[in-house]
Amino acid sequence: MNIYHLLARASTVHRDRPAVALGKTVLHDFAALDARARAIAAGLLSSHGLARGDRVAIVAANTPAYVETVWGIWAAGLAAVPVNAKLHPKEIAYILDHSGARVVFASPDKADAVAEARTHAPGVETAITLDGPDHDALLAGTPLASHAEMARDDLAWLFYTSGTTGRPKGAMITHDNLLATTTSYFLDIDQVPPGGAIVHAAPMSHGSGLYMFPNVAMGAAQVIPESGGFDALEIMDLIAHWPEVSMFAAPTMINRLVAKAREAAAPDFSNLRVIVYGGAPMHVADVERALDVLGPRLAQLYGQGESPMCITGLSRAYYVDRTHPRFRDRIASAGFPQSVVEVRVVDENDTPLPPGQEGEIVARGNPVMKGYWKNPEATAETLRGGWLHTGDVGVFDEDGFLTLKDRSKDVIISGGTNIYPREVEEVLLRHPGVLECSVVGAPHADWGEEVVAFVVAQPGVTLDEADLDAFVTAEIARFKRPKRYRFIADLPKSNYGKILKRELRDLLAAEAKDAANAG
Ligand code: AMP
Repeated sequence: MNIYHLLARASTVHRDRPAVALGKTVLHDFAALDARARAIAAGLLSSHGLARGDRVAIVAANTPAYVETVWGIWAAGLAAVPVNAKLHPKEIAYILDHSGARVVFASPDKADAVAEARTHAPGVETAITLDGPDHDALLAGTPLASHAEMARDDLAWLFYTSGTTGRPKGAMITHDNLLATTTSYFLDIDQVPPGGAIVHAAPMSHGSGLYMFPNVAMGAAQVIPESGGFDALEIMDLIAHWPEVSMFAAPTMINRLVAKAREAAAPDFSNLRVIVYGGAPMHVADVERALDVLGPRLAQLYGQGESPMCITGLSRAYYVDRTHPRFRDRIASAGFPQSVVEVRVVDENDTPLPPGQEGEIVARGNPVMKGYWKNPEATAETLRGGWLHTGDVGVFDEDGFLTLKDRSKDVIISGGTNIYPREVEEVLLRHPGVLECSVVGAPHADWGEEVVAFVVAQPGVTLDEADLDAFVTAEIARFKRPKRYRFIADLPKSNYGKILKRELRDLLAAEAKDAANAG
């Protein structure tokens, strides 16, 4: 089944309901969204000569045109490649080239970055600017009579995760995977009332885009903030305006929203149904503060690109009963396995561990990706034994709640976005003055973590922070660059010569504590 079925169905069941809005302005109802998506589909197949299964990339921050374009891609039987709009042109080039995308859509502000990227991605035949003349020409065409027939394991969404070993990997998400994660939303996270709204405050190229599905299915509007991103005051205004609002947010965003709401005279969250958070752990104190301000309107999910939004979840009900004796343990956890996925904690031989014992979290079921695009080695390693190896360490308790303990991949999560130290280290190590380096996350009050680079200079070289910063930002996205540099004589290492990142983190944590005591 083509995931487009959800929109085809909504175009009759929810025909006149608002489907897409910019801020408070309704742009299209469901019948119009369906017609626009099918027009884009027809144009991609005829004028651009694409064939079923071809990849089409989108490089854009949240914008209404994103919605009709991505659904148009599915209507045509093509695969969408959502690209994080904040990536460096070189990183965009890698994804365009590796995915074999033949067409790329870009928002006007990303047109230059995409043009630069295309010089390294010769396979891209056409770039279309969202809301530009080529996009309008697609919309002016005759819509496809009906969406393409797809097999359940056909590729729908090629989601590039940042690579732990330098290069990002493309998780192949099928139509069936998307249907499974959508079903699980209703079973395990929340209901969506018809006529409600989802405010896309987080990037649609990532988690928020996946929450289009349950909301389209139920006839809820996709509301795109005019700022295209997260502005706490604007979000509060949109929540007060739209009925039955839901939202996906990284914990950092919720913290910022709560801080703004506390400054406001009379914040109105009565229309807020739920904020589903995930992507990074949220501290218990922050959850409690958010509940004080927002009311019992939180839910949580734990997932990853390889099993999108769907490994474990904690529904709204668990945030309501604050008198429960285990309330704090529960909200410190990531909840139960979602209904469509089996979850285990295993040892290094993949043997399941009993409650109370920490191990790697593995998952199996319909939402789990088919594999990594053009990367059979990584696929075999990650999906060995038929289970997705998440690289996350966790522990079940006797009540079945899973708590995430550590991130075995050393990923830094800053503002809900994953930053892989290895990527940054590889760039730094290309600098002629750098002998060795190690990048770690330091605790940060707003961002959760910030990127800190420990650098050992080549003998006789004096390194300059500004110079290193310029070097790094010429290669990778700004959000990945170290916010602080520490120049040291030697990196701490184990007997095997492995850099002891934990010692570096401990050092930073101790310094932060000293600074707090002194201040
Ligand atoms: P991504 O593939 O970018 O969605 O990142 C997925 C990773 O984010 C997971 O493997 C976890 O390490 C982390 N993560 C996601 N959800 C949660 C959560 N609810 N609590 C803690 N960490 C999470």
